Amino acid sequence: MEIILQNYIGGELLSPLEEAYIHGTNPATGETFALVPDSTAKDVDLAVESAQSAFPSWSETPAKERSKILHRIAELIETKYFDQLVEAETTDNGKPLHLSRNVDIPRAAANFHFFASAILHTHTEAFPNESTSLNYTLRQPIGVVGCISPWNLPLYLFTWKIAPALAAGCTVVGKPSEITPYTSFLLSKICMEAGLPAGVLNIVHGTGPKAGRAITSHPEIKAISFTGGTKTGAEISRIAAPMFKKLSLELGGKNPNIIFEDCNYDKMIETTLRSSFSNQGQICLCGSRIFVQEGIYDRFKKDFVKKTEQLKVGDPLAPTTDVGAVVSEAHLNKILNYIELAKEEGGTMLTGGNRIVLEGRCKNGYFVAPTIIEGLDQQCRTNQEEIFGPVVTLAPFKKEEEAIQMANATQYGLSATVWTQNLNVAHRVANKLQAGIVWINTWMLRDLRTYFGGMKQSGVGREGGFQALNFFTEAKNVTIDFT
Ligand code: NDP
Repeated sequence: MEIILQNYIGGELLSPLEEAYIHGTNPATGETFALVPDSTAKDVDLAVESAQSAFPSWSETPAKERSKILHRIAELIETKYFDQLVEAETTDNGKPLHLSRNVDIPRAAANFHFFASAILHTHTEAFPNESTSLNYTLRQPIGVVGCISPWNLPLYLFTWKIAPALAAGCTVVGKPSEITPYTSFLLSKICMEAGLPAGVLNIVHGTGPKAGRAITSHPEIKAISFTGGTKTGAEISRIAAPMFKKLSLELGGKNPNIIFEDCNYDKMIETTLRSSFSNQGQICLCGSRIFVQEGIYDRFKKDFVKKTEQLKVGDPLAPTTDVGAVVSEAHLNKILNYIELAKEEGGTMLTGGNRIVLEGRCKNGYFVAPTIIEGLDQQCRTNQEEIFGPVVTLAPFKKEEEAIQMANATQYGLSATVWTQNLNVAHRVANKLQAGIVWINTWMLRDLRTYFGGMKQSGVGREGGFQALNFFTEAKNVTIDFT
């Protein structure tokens, strides 16, 4: 029996006005398990109306009150609903259960806690002009905002947008990816139970071209916070920019992982395994181009292939599984097509390069063997385009300058990882990398206060900490003349 998901509009769970649904598939089994509202512009209009009516009172609710409600949402995620959310995320996305339990769902709660606390510790600037005048900055919530998120870290990224928006005093019309909507449906119930006033958060499920587009083009939506592919980001900009909407775009990546000979080898190789294949390589921050200094190239290649082959690809529900299913059949085919392209471009498969067919419950699931490719030119499509699967390429380098040049040679600039024990090298390379986030001797070590976002075609603007609160507010300068 399929679960029927509903939109969350005006504080109520509602069926889509046209009563149309899309099939929600479990990628580990290939089976439909949910019916997802295929909402249209009419549902979005209703959501915007309810967000507009809720705005005056929510934006004037004292920060302390808003904070209490957001903490309550976080607590319900961490306690009563935790196991249900963990299971729902894995069912919808195909990621191993331990990832949902240890990363995705705790981080969704942390997002709410973080911004609920942050609004109690804000400050503003003042510009005194000797004893004649004073300027100060007021920050006021921008209004109704649109938050659109992707399928790879469903609740984690959805809440990374809506938590700061709600904390800042905005009301929200959100759309999770239609491919992974289950946990945000559960979030609707949590918000109702936590006492979030009706209309403050509205969640409209549906496809990008229909519901997503209706959000980006709605004249009453003042800002769009979007995470997803670069092409979609460009499409959203085309619609939203002439309407002078504020835009925050977190887009694709093709991140370099630069490994110098003097690195802490054991830590590097364990982390590189994670940065390559965590979440089936479907994290925008995964390091998909690995550059290794020539002195340790052969050793690294041998050890990395061996460790990759030891990863267990299997049922996401099994505790021993390292690599689960990729998110959909369409995405499986996209990854397999890129693997074929890599072969045509002259790449050698060091391991993987194929679909994996499991037995039993997962016999129709979408599994790909973790794949390492060597021998490709840096300019070829495999090294230039985002594959967003468990596929990495290896290349040797001699000197620091060569590694930097190869690392920067794509249109993307999201994140980069550098492995070295030499402080001078670390600082020099970090300084020259064209990336919004640089990790040295680590990967995915996140601090929610820091700037998060990409350069070049990886995005516009920064999320994280007070940057996100600033995005959802307008700065107003007030001048007082005391003469
Ligand atoms: P998409 O760009 O396909 O979709 C993202 C969201 O936008 C989905 O909710 C989608 O709906 C919606 N959408 C699609 N078309 C439109 C449109 N015309 N107008 C408004 N909304 C639309 O990305 P994916 O879901 O495939 O996610 C993977 C991508 O996300 C990768 O490129 C990855 O790098 C990037 N990403 C970036 C991150 C970052 O922080 N920089 C973090 C995580 C992922 P629907 O599901 O119906 O298509």
